[in-house]
Amino acid sequence: MDLSINIAFHHLFHKTNIGRERYMNLEQLGQVRHNWETAEVEALFDMPFNDLLFYAQTVHRKHFNPNEVQVSTLLSIKTGACPEDCKYCPQSGHYTTDLEKEKLMKVEKVLEQAKKAKEIGSTRFCMGAAWRSPTKKDMPYVIDMIKGVRDMGMETCMTLGMLDEDQSKALADAGLDYYNHNLDTSPEFYGNIITTRTYQDRLETIDNVRKAGMKVCSGGILGMGETELDRAGMLIQLANMPQQPESVPINMLVRVEGTPFAENEELDPIDFIRTIAVARIMMPESHVRLSAGREEMNDEMQSLAFFAGANSIFYGEKLLTTDNPRAEQDQQLFTRLGIKPEQRCEKRSEQEQEAALMSAVEKQQDDHAFYDATA
Ligand code: SF4
Repeated sequence: MDLSINIAFHHLFHKTNIGRERYMNLEQLGQVRHNWETAEVEALFDMPFNDLLFYAQTVHRKHFNPNEVQVSTLLSIKTGACPEDCKYCPQSGHYTTDLEKEKLMKVEKVLEQAKKAKEIGSTRFCMGAAWRSPTKKDMPYVIDMIKGVRDMGMETCMTLGMLDEDQSKALADAGLDYYNHNLDTSPEFYGNIITTRTYQDRLETIDNVRKAGMKVCSGGILGMGETELDRAGMLIQLANMPQQPESVPINMLVRVEGTPFAENEELDPIDFIRTIAVARIMMPESHVRLSAGREEMNDEMQSLAFFAGANSIFYGEKLLTTDNPRAEQDQQLFTRLGIKPEQRCEKRSEQEQEAALMSAVEKQQDDHAFYDATA
């Protein structure tokens, strides 16, 4: 870790967090670790909000440009009638919601939508199907979709349910960059939200995806009635994987009428931001993504989430319609915050990270040089 950051950590730690040394190893802040323990994650959640955000933002700056956010577009390629019983999901066939069911979209239609996504600045196109697992019949179509989107120069991501080793390999061979499969919550709370597949099933799918050489997108949902300990448990599962997921979506429950969680209590926005910050500290090199629930967050809450270390957003499929008001609103917020969409880039080396950090510090010093003392 950069020495100046280390000193800053220690300085702040001693000023404000006396007594937590037992749990926290500040020397290691900003490093990727796979041995997180419950007590130290709880200590992060317990920190005064401003301290937590300071640490998260400092870790964030070590690995990313703090003024860039990666933008992905999500398209549902097959909607509803899912045999799984995820209690938060309007696509489950177990619940009656207003959602319109749709069969698997035609490949050309998917590619048309991908083209529109590219035009509005998305660098990654994510295709989701409400399946327990793709069938043999479905595979040739999804493979054509992957190839078509890649030919447009965009990164590809899919979420199709559980995958075995052969399916993972077929998707990787077609050029799929990312596979999304969320853990949703802690192993302990999991039984309260889904009964049709196990936590172990999920871990196995993620393992198959890794073995096939694809990048992993995996996160969870807040606001389902879980405790803070469950949030810590979920983040520990993700961070302690042999390789941390490249993308970690942190969703806020959307309470949809007809689903068992429709009447759940509203999530405290501060608790949401806290979880983003803890995720950033525990998975310093991952993109932490704001996805479901973003429509219900105001600009201030999203800004705070970016400050806490979120650096990826989803444009939903509704955004691919002609007037696209939400995309315009996002662009306005980016402009107000001085944030730019992140371009596709390979992971930076340690030296490049240090150089980027130094240049950010120098730039900040330059900015101070132009401070208008007469104002
Ligand atoms: S598997 Fe996916 S689409 Fe199906 S019910 Fe669960 S979350 Fe919804």
